[in-house]
Amino acid sequence: MKDFLTTAGLYEKKVILEDYKVGNKKYYDEQEFEDTTFDYYCQEEEKTTTFQLGLNYATNSSFGSEIHDSYFKNDFLDFSFTAVCTCQSCKKEKVYFLLHVYSDKKLSQKIGTVTDEQFRQGYRYDEPNAKIYIEKAGIFPEVKIKVDKEINKFLDKENKTFYFKGLKALSNNLGVGALGYFRRIVESELMHIVREVKSLPNSDKGAIQKLLDEYEKSKKVSSIYENIYQFLPLSLQSINYNPLMLLYNLRTSQFHRRRIFRQSI
Ligand SMILES: [Zn+2]
Repeated sequence: MKDFLTTAGLYEKKVILEDYKVGNKKYYDEQEFEDTTFDYYCQEEEKTTTFQLGLNYATNSSFGSEIHDSYFKNDFLDFSFTAVCTCQSCKKEKVYFLLHVYSDKKLSQKIGTVTDEQFRQGYRYDEPNAKIYIEKAGIFPEVKIKVDKEINKFLDKENKTFYFKGLKALSNNLGVGALGYFRRIVESELMHIVREVKSLPNSDKGAIQKLLDEYEKSKKVSSIYENIYQFLPLSLQSINYNPLMLLYNLRTSQFHRRRIFRQSI
């Protein structure tokens, strides 16, 4: 739970209870989470400190009753609450999370108020192996995107924008979206490298320019990497593999692996 509060991005979820059993009393309301401490970045102090999770009692009318109907929707556990998290060092900085707690199967609502036997008779919709999840459905203030200055120095204006968008997509837990941006950066930076290689004293300038011209027409980058090896200066050929092809393959294999993974879930 502590790790989840510290590191989870927007819409990231985590199982907090596996294999739910009749009689379970955990995670039925937000008080379960009250006072949890976790590491988080304090923007006031510009360093990571300990934050403590508090609840907004003014907006939660259902506190006090052990299990409240409003925590369920169609017999699924399903409620959201605002966690007000305060930096324990400066006591000023606050971070707000909208936390969504839900089950993936139907659960009985009257746990703790009747005996297990009455349960089994009265509530037949308890399903085995139900899990309870928590999800960060909102984060305020938004997580600051930390751009690596060393990487940024290398990038042109367009790629700087892609880099920022990629990091932002990552912080919103949109990994495939981020990969799309990073892939564009790698492709475009590889093209920069090809142009730099062309300007080296021993490279075959005419042949490499021909490959670049073909690319301009077809926009098919792979043909450049496949064909450039023979035109590289001898110093680059002597490593016995095509360094540009290696970089290109790295970025495509990662992307396709992610895509296949996405399709399989
Ligand atoms: Zn602080």
